[in-house]
Amino acid sequence: MHKRLAILGSTGSIGTQTLEIVSRYPAMFTVTVLTAGSNADLLMEQAKLFRPETVVIGSEAHYKKVRDGLAGLGIEVLAGKEAFEAVAASANVDTVVAAVVGFAGLRPTAAAVAAGKEVALANKETLVVAGEMITGTAAMTGCRLLPVDSEHSAIMQCIQGEPHASIEKIILTASGGPFRNTPPEKLAKATPGEALRHPNWSMGNKITIDSATLMNKGLEVIEARWLFDVPGDKIDVLIHPQSIIHSLVQFSDGSLKAQLGVPDMRLPIIYALTYPDRVTTDLPRPSLAEIGSLTFEKPDTLRFRNLTLAREALKAGGNMPCALNAANEVAVAAFLKDMLGFTGIADTVEYVLEKTLYNNEPSMGVYEETDSRSRGLAAEFISKTQKQ
Ligand code: NAD
Ligand code: MG
Repeated sequence: MHKRLAILGSTGSIGTQTLEIVSRYPAMFTVTVLTAGSNADLLMEQAKLFRPETVVIGSEAHYKKVRDGLAGLGIEVLAGKEAFEAVAASANVDTVVAAVVGFAGLRPTAAAVAAGKEVALANKETLVVAGEMITGTAAMTGCRLLPVDSEHSAIMQCIQGEPHASIEKIILTASGGPFRNTPPEKLAKATPGEALRHPNWSMGNKITIDSATLMNKGLEVIEARWLFDVPGDKIDVLIHPQSIIHSLVQFSDGSLKAQLGVPDMRLPIIYALTYPDRVTTDLPRPSLAEIGSLTFEKPDTLRFRNLTLAREALKAGGNMPCALNAANEVAVAAFLKDMLGFTGIADTVEYVLEKTLYNNEPSMGVYEETDSRSRGLAAEFISKTQKQ
């Protein structure tokens, strides 16, 4: 097996870990495309090391810097949104690692799916916004969508060889984040610094805040609905603070299957890149005797309203999950800039969902319009709360 990879979002947490895996298994992977949003310095460093055919920098302002920095190396340098889509569908790519964060990942991932590429999907927002459209296109083009998200990787491992009709329930585990035991009155005052201190995982800022608000688990319920074709009411969430069991599947005979491992994203990334094979790694093995106990509890949906809001958006369908996602992206960015309180994130999402005009026609145009309208509504709500 040899795969030519396009890594979209190569400078992020998932992107850099993917490149680390590529360095460990040079006979298995070649990097043909690297892309980044605005981190020109790291993108250039990666390009010098991995020698891709093409790099794309999202921010046009950094184009000249990257072009000059890579001059003479025979690397094509492109900039802008259209270039992301073109490289995701390019003929010299077998597998696209979709590791951009947020709605920005939708178009390039959709392009890869439409071109029938294999897609290792980290960018869960793509399925949250456009799950129906993306999975519909994938079924037509023969695109294989392989989850990178650790919970979904776990589920995929649990259902290998099992008939789809025997899946009774999917149980997504969640660490509960840094505020699992924080009382409601303190939650409202939680700072970005506290929220960024995730107990078990080191990740990009947006997903770390989503983990603290439990929106991440809400997004993952929607992601699982589309990846595994299981309705939302058959997808449960279970708090498991140790993050050793990455998720479970309950079958029609009453059996439960779980996948366990240390919390290390390199494991699900490798599984996605080498599926259906398993490679030998020297990643740490969990010692259950040392861990001692694995505990579980129900999520508190009163303190963490995002979980309920995400379920409601999924149930409503159409453009509602898109509105939820956009509102959340704006609210998380505002929280990180200290312009919105922690519990204001769920308030913003709730406000935007209430104001969204329902549209049940999944098309790229509808999603883009809903995204931009919801961002406007979220900004309006945040500026109103600031004035109070
Ligand atoms: P990150 O913020 O560390 O990296 C994001 C990457 O996307 C960077 O390379 C950045 O340059 C690029 N990017 C950002 N905005 C862009 C734009 N507008 N246009 C083009 N490129 C842009 O994020 P991350 O933590 O690596 O997460 C990436 C995705 O993977 C997210 O959807 C996240 O939910 C998912 N995910 C991450 C983890 C994790 O451990 N980090 C785990 C599971 C799922
Ligand atoms: Mg996850």
